[in-house]
Amino acid sequence: MHKMKILANDGISAIGKQQLEAAGFTVITEKVDQNDLIRAINEENYEIVLVRSATTVRKEVIDACPNLKLIGRGGVGMDNIDVAYAREKGLTVINTPASSSQSVAELVMGHLFSISRFLHDSYKNMEGGDFSKLKKDYAKGVELRGKTLGIIGFGRIGQSLATYALGVGMNVIAVDQNEYVANIQVKIGNGHEVTVPISTTNNLNEVLGACDYISIHVPKQADGSAVIGEKEFALMKNGVRLVNAARGGVFDEEALINALNSGKVAACALDVYENEPNPNPALLSHPKIACTPHIGAATVEAQDRIGSELAELIINEFVVKG
Ligand code: NAD
Repeated sequence: MHKMKILANDGISAIGKQQLEAAGFTVITEKVDQNDLIRAINEENYEIVLVRSATTVRKEVIDACPNLKLIGRGGVGMDNIDVAYAREKGLTVINTPASSSQSVAELVMGHLFSISRFLHDSYKNMEGGDFSKLKKDYAKGVELRGKTLGIIGFGRIGQSLATYALGVGMNVIAVDQNEYVANIQVKIGNGHEVTVPISTTNNLNEVLGACDYISIHVPKQADGSAVIGEKEFALMKNGVRLVNAARGGVFDEEALINALNSGKVAACALDVYENEPNPNPALLSHPKIACTPHIGAATVEAQDRIGSELAELIINEFVVKG
């Protein structure tokens, strides 16, 4: 094998880089501007381009760079790559869909605890605030143990979230467009493990009223439509708490604000937004909304897993298969 050159334009974890270098690849992580990508790939003879969500690899790049052999996306969604076109042209396109499931699930657990005790709001108001008044404002926290969590979309992240929710003593209702039984393996610590079978239902409307908490883990819908809108909010329990760490738009944002203002929804946590990176300011300033800037996959461990998984896939493609 000649020494293939890889441009990891949105970075790659140190461990992934090491694995690739040990297998004989040259890995460059200096970021090339999107407008300069075609020139850099051709001049530097990069045969592999790795991206996360920042760099896009569209038809123009694929057409203009005939030596490109593989495009890799560290993470799940591939909206920034013209996947079908690239494959039609004979390129290999890979991603690492499983590597961040646990990190998204842990962020959701953090949000569930946070919105149950108003942490997001108390952080903002402590400095200069009236301590006694704040103590009263945040007096009505609620506990997770014994409550029911509805998980909409019971794929990799939904199932990973179930392991944590079961672990803290929540009951889990799983909704998915496909009905099946998932055996959820809960790792308790100290080497213990418990398996809990959970059957999914595809009847969302029937279970909405039974949930104290709802977290959504479906992909962006093909037609762009919201999975939770005005009609679904109306079916929920009063005082329900919600999380969206899936994709902006799967909750109808306007209907969400109305449901928070009417008291139907007690609190909501958002990691994703329509119109990123400029979300609606009414969401960001709302006292009942806890916001994070799309950091579901952003843990050191997930970035290591993403880098390693990409390295293994590339080594398998060019070194093992040859
Ligand atoms: P997955 O494909 O494993 O699971 C998605 C599940 O949703 C599938 O089981 C599918 O059948 C189900 N589904 C789809 N549409 C549905 C609908 N309308 N009603 C009910 N069920 C439906 O995907 P995953 O790895 O669990 O990831 C889920 C989503 O999380 C991704 O598509 C991505 O948008 C998002 N995500 C966000 C972050 C973040 O940083 N916040 C990171 C990774 C992924």
